Amino acid sequence: MADQLPRKQFTAGEEIFARGDKGEQAYFIDRGVVEISTIQRGKKVVIARLGTGDLFGELALLNQQTRTATATALENVELVTINADQLNRALNDANPLLRKLLQVNLGRFQWTQQFMLQNTDSKGSHQSLEQQAKADQALEREIARAIEAREFELHYQPIITLQGGWTVGFEALLRWRHPTRGLVSPDSFIPVAERTGQIVELGRWVLEESLEALKAFQLLVGHKGAGPRPPLTALAVAEDSQGGMRKPGPLFMSVNVSSRQLLEMQEVDRIGDIVKKSGIEPDRIKLEITESLLVDDPAHAAAALQLLRDYGMKIALDDFGTGYSSLSYLHQFPLDTLKIDQKFVSTMDQDPKSYRIIRAIVGLAREMGLETIAEGIERNNQLAALREIGCDRGQGYLMSRPASFREARKLLQSRRARW
Ligand code: C2E
Ligand code: CA
Ligand code: CA
Repeated sequence: MADQLPRKQFTAGEEIFARGDKGEQAYFIDRGVVEISTIQRGKKVVIARLGTGDLFGELALLNQQTRTATATALENVELVTINADQLNRALNDANPLLRKLLQVNLGRFQWTQQFMLQNTDSKGSHQSLEQQAKADQALEREIARAIEAREFELHYQPIITLQGGWTVGFEALLRWRHPTRGLVSPDSFIPVAERTGQIVELGRWVLEESLEALKAFQLLVGHKGAGPRPPLTALAVAEDSQGGMRKPGPLFMSVNVSSRQLLEMQEVDRIGDIVKKSGIEPDRIKLEITESLLVDDPAHAAAALQLLRDYGMKIALDDFGTGYSSLSYLHQFPLDTLKIDQKFVSTMDQDPKSYRIIRAIVGLAREMGLETIAEGIERNNQLAALREIGCDRGQGYLMSRPASFREARKLLQSRRARW
């Protein structure tokens, strides 16, 4: 049969398809080696290396969804292609029992593959499914206990306006003050909280807590509407459209939101309710989402983001540049801000490519009416370069590491809150 099917050749290094592409064909490898990879938390993770006789790309073909991974030719390869029409014709002609068996097994296989993918660490090594499930369960119980025991806390990292150098807002970052392990970083428990669904409850708490903190910060710099300007207002001001200084404006809070939290519209409404109850102006709240939300189910993402916008909140796309969406694709979503990933910022003073990427992102974002925030600024020359490029805002260890509530208050009060 393979002899009658069309063939395709790819040279070493060439991409066969990318994550996010529409899946229209499956491939049998007739010759050569193909690498299947994905991006997790900004890092490439190799899922598999496949050789002659292996099949790949068949899931996207069967369920008509977008590719969940990228396929690259590691050497010159020849592939036999199967397209959706051919397959559907074969399926329609098949015995109904066979068709059902195939569908059920496919569903199971897909679930297993997804599970493996989520449990692959950044070095590409696998734990067995059983080991991973056990570890997850133990951590799940620990997280549940920690929620009860109120062991979670938020740290706040200032975000400055690059032209004026003033603190205009904070990003709330979750920490776990574990009784024996000390302060635990979110990278070591958020992925599990996402898998178990605990992130939904944790996320609500993060929002409530960060809005309380924002109220306190706003009071401290005394912005609220009319009234006399207290002496500290100079520390936090709103910029005008040229990035210059205008009258004092309210600080904002950026809050990270996992895709899992926006899966159901009911939860999106709950987020809206929390904001309403807080009494904070909703446009002072910026929800940071990641590209995975947009790519996994674009129609749902657009509806969820629009609802958040209807509540008056702002939306930032986090870690921009590490994923797979193009700027033109971003047009489809109601976004306000692009956060340029630290990967580019940390290398921009050594690698001209990173510098040029940031310049292009800032230029195009401006064309699209989006604001830009650069993350991970650690050195003065990075700050200077970002100012010159015209990036709007910045955040990084150079200005401040994420600080406890008390430290953040002190920072707002200190006279050196300007960079
Ligand atoms: P993120 O949203 O990309 O947050 C930025 C991370 O970069 C933070 O790590 C921050 O401490 C770190 N960072 C800031 N400035 C610098 C710098 O100059 N240099 C370097 N090397 N790093 C810098 P953190 O706090 O460990 O958070 C890690 C990730 O955990 C976050 O990445 C975010 O994806 C997730 N996360 C944190 N809090 C929450 C939360 O409340 N909800 C959810 N869903 N995710 C959260
Ligand atoms: Ca973030
Ligand atoms: Ca980020």
